[in-house]
Amino acid sequence: MSDTQPGAPAEIIEADLTWTGERFEAGVQVAVGAGARIEAVGRLGLNPTRRLRDQALLPGLVDVHSHAFQIGLRGRGERFPSGRGSFWTWREAMYELVDALEPERFRALTLEAFIEMRDAGITTVGEFHYVHHATTERDYDLDIVLLDAAAEAGIRLVLLNTHYEAGGFGKPLHGSQQRFDTRSPSEFWMSVDRLYSGLEPDTQTMGVAAHSVRAVPIEAIVELHQESSRRDLVFHIHVEEQPQEVEDCVRFHGRRPMALLDDALAIDDRFTAIHCTHTASDDMQRLLERGGNVCICPLTEANLGDGIADVPAIHRAGGHICLGTDSNARIAMTEEMRWLEYGQRLKAQQRGIVTDQDGGVAASLLDVATLNGARALGVEAGLIGPGLWADFVALDLTAPALRGSEADTLLDSWIFGTGNETIISTCVGGDWRPSRSARVANARSRDSD
Ligand SMILES: [Zn+2]
Repeated sequence: MSDTQPGAPAEIIEADLTWTGERFEAGVQVAVGAGARIEAVGRLGLNPTRRLRDQALLPGLVDVHSHAFQIGLRGRGERFPSGRGSFWTWREAMYELVDALEPERFRALTLEAFIEMRDAGITTVGEFHYVHHATTERDYDLDIVLLDAAAEAGIRLVLLNTHYEAGGFGKPLHGSQQRFDTRSPSEFWMSVDRLYSGLEPDTQTMGVAAHSVRAVPIEAIVELHQESSRRDLVFHIHVEEQPQEVEDCVRFHGRRPMALLDDALAIDDRFTAIHCTHTASDDMQRLLERGGNVCICPLTEANLGDGIADVPAIHRAGGHICLGTDSNARIAMTEEMRWLEYGQRLKAQQRGIVTDQDGGVAASLLDVATLNGARALGVEAGLIGPGLWADFVALDLTAPALRGSEADTLLDSWIFGTGNETIISTCVGGDWRPSRSARVANARSRDSD
């Protein structure tokens, strides 16, 4: 490292404690280059330009699966006057929201979701974006609105542009689903190609999604997946969230959705199956052997009553589990992390499911929320390490919930004992922003001065 341009670090960060991959360490400095990437990590002996006193530094969290606009359903779908609700009654409420979604409202909701994500320590989001049109005329206007909202919130975005062409197995689209219609793979790729010039070069990339085996015929899924592999893009799809999807698929194709995909696609580490709540163990094994990722969305799956995926089997097989905030009814990655573990504890009546080789859970859950997420989204992030993007979360060590934590208990305290209130600021590609709870606290202390 030299003092001369180019290559001089733009910033030398030093927190009281820094997560170095397996533990928190004191005295560690992080040098960030002018290109917003980390250049060096360690005891560098430099003068810090950003001294984070009473703070701990973590890699930014990665939210692999979000539908940002669904934050508009928060607080709306929680009453069940005609008896029990289900995923499918929730979906009707979601379609009602879509019907009333003007571009301004879509922008306001997605912006709010992305800002909340940063407040929750999320520095990268994979937005599984299927509401493309402001009207039923296939205008693709909302694609641009989404990119703008992410740029304003300052969150790193992997736009998982989503193909949607059927209203169910062998069924045409109906009603609000017209707002999702990308018609054919060729029209879909034209819409993707139009978007490239609108991407922020340092913080926005593209991936591809097929909504599900119900919304996209298998021939189109194969075509999309082949082209996304040729372009080296990640590929995501909802898989087996609901038993009805499995039953309908068996009736139509003679196979379950995951088996259908395992048979038809050349799956590799760029493939992510979302949910896999009801996936058969053989089908899961084939997915994992080929390097496929599994994205679990614990809070949404609980809210919708989906069921509980076989996380112990995936973890035992060395599979790559990542996390999504999905419907965004609550945006809190510490809760997603601990509920990945807690759901299994409740089911198995045991403790210690997503363990690492030392028997700890927290470091393993953090990997799920960082490294594994970055892998599923094809983003060079997820760790405080040289060459990766300068994406960080800073924790307030004076926060009541963390007071008394030592370096070796801090991560456990944070994951099992807090929501978003200890997150004091986040950094995306060198752009630091205080979280809203920190801004409120600062304003209060100014008022009382
Ligand atoms: Zn989803």
